[in-house]
Amino acid sequence: MLNVATFAFVHLSMKEIRMAEVLCTRCGKSAEKLEKPPLRGKIGQDIYEHVCRSCWEEWSQGEVMLINEYRLNLADPEHRKVLYQNMRQFLNLAE
Ligand SMILES: [Zn+2]
Repeated sequence: MLNVATFAFVHLSMKEIRMAEVLCTRCGKSAEKLEKPPLRGKIGQDIYEHVCRSCWEEWSQGEVMLINEYRLNLADPEHRKVLYQNMRQFLNLAE
């Protein structure tokens, strides 16, 4: 049975999960963070810890254009490096 105290606790926990925030390096605001690192490795962790969800979504849209415009092949490590450099620049993330 859910008593009042349990309810308050669950409610608070839910709020905390929903409101998980990050001080974003791109927009400079404390905003909603991603649910998990969007990429593997250090870069994914850096983004997860320093970039808000809306800035990441903004990048994701720009990324598609960048890949098309420069015909980047993500299977190629050199191309991936170029993409990640642009990503860090866009997100204002230091290496
Ligand atoms: Zn942001």
